[in-house]
Amino acid sequence: MQAEIISIGSELTSGAKLDTNSQWLSIELSAIGIPVRFHATMADDRAAMLEVFQTAVKRSDVVLITGGLGPTFDDLTRELIAEVLGTELVLDKTSLHIIEDMFAKRGRVMADRNRIQAMFPAGSEAILNPIGTAPGIWAEVPRKGNSPCIFAAMPGVPSEMRKMYREQVAPRLPRGKQVIRRAMVHTFGQGESNVEEMLGDLTARDRNPEVGITASSATITLRIESRGDTIEDCDAAIAETKSRIRKTLGDLVFGEDDDTLESVVIAELRKRGATLATVECASHGLLSHGIAKASSSGSTYRGSIVVGDETAWPRDATSDPDLNLASSDGVAALARSCRDQFQADYALAVSPFSRPDGDDPPLVFVALAHKDGVEVSEQAILSDLTIARPRAVKTVVNLLRLHLLNPL
Ligand code: ATP
Ligand code: MG
Repeated sequence: MQAEIISIGSELTSGAKLDTNSQWLSIELSAIGIPVRFHATMADDRAAMLEVFQTAVKRSDVVLITGGLGPTFDDLTRELIAEVLGTELVLDKTSLHIIEDMFAKRGRVMADRNRIQAMFPAGSEAILNPIGTAPGIWAEVPRKGNSPCIFAAMPGVPSEMRKMYREQVAPRLPRGKQVIRRAMVHTFGQGESNVEEMLGDLTARDRNPEVGITASSATITLRIESRGDTIEDCDAAIAETKSRIRKTLGDLVFGEDDDTLESVVIAELRKRGATLATVECASHGLLSHGIAKASSSGSTYRGSIVVGDETAWPRDATSDPDLNLASSDGVAALARSCRDQFQADYALAVSPFSRPDGDDPPLVFVALAHKDGVEVSEQAILSDLTIARPRAVKTVVNLLRLHLLNPL
């Protein structure tokens, strides 16, 4: 059994909107053991839709469609499902009453065009939509010498689609033979290819659980996918793979699933009843935003200084007003004075970018101040600032993480 997801809308093919429905539905389907082999996205275009629908009947057993169910002339999904079934659209009185009621409750007059939303391909079933006007369509397309191909068409609006899928579509879908479970392990401090090399045969393509690697602004994530007969089997296999990964990568691993560098550091500080403050320039508030989000409440995070431009630094904060802040000494002085000002146990600092020196790229310096001294690290800016900023922030948060793991 294999599935296909079809997303309809010219706003998707034009690039005005990103198709997030396919992603969400694919994760849901794999959770019930139905592998998704195709995603198809197309404009509100009759010929394109017909071609894709007909192909889907041939190559997929479950076809989930989103979009194109609205009342306007460019909403063609219902007509094309009728065409694939070889039937006509017929009025479903129950659906019409529900739609009329919905308009009455909202105190609005129903436009004539909305009647179309109560029209269904003969032989199909309406799927109720408790939070919008467009009902969905459930159709089973007969296939010679094969079981029927299931078509479930849902609204394009993500919130309506999700509710309809969970409450009315998922319970009716066949269950796959295999259970699929997923987990993530996050690492920081080495590049993707280094991590892959360290993991060796753990990332082999035919392994179960399979381990894939993805990188997102310097965080390297290992995605573990386990297939098995039961949830327990899959979870046990995932736990074993995780422990091999941790053994191999050691301190590079900072967390799992929803963990971020900030959230694990804050959790660690909380455990010790320790406090943190931050000061930053090049990172434009990214450091304080990440830490504040992770701490949300409580007294762990004492506060931050965010400066837009080097000339705006509170100069009396460092003992030497002529100190170049974009240097190891400069960032160390910032971290130290931030720790003092906020009376925190730890302070993190991100310097301004240094001016490029000849052919050398600009640098950014980061520092961690604690009771025993200051640790500094520097980075060359070789990439776009949208990558360099989060990388600098993660580097300084990671300094603190490693310090908490292995105090000097
Ligand atoms: P419906 O069947 O809900 O009436 P429609 O095609 O008539 O669908 P649209 O007006 O095209 O509805 O889309 C409704 C909203 O849902 C828009 O904001 C649209 O961008 C969004 N949307 C549609 N399809 C997707 C998708 N695949 N992923 C994310 N958003 C989507
Ligand atoms: Mg649309």
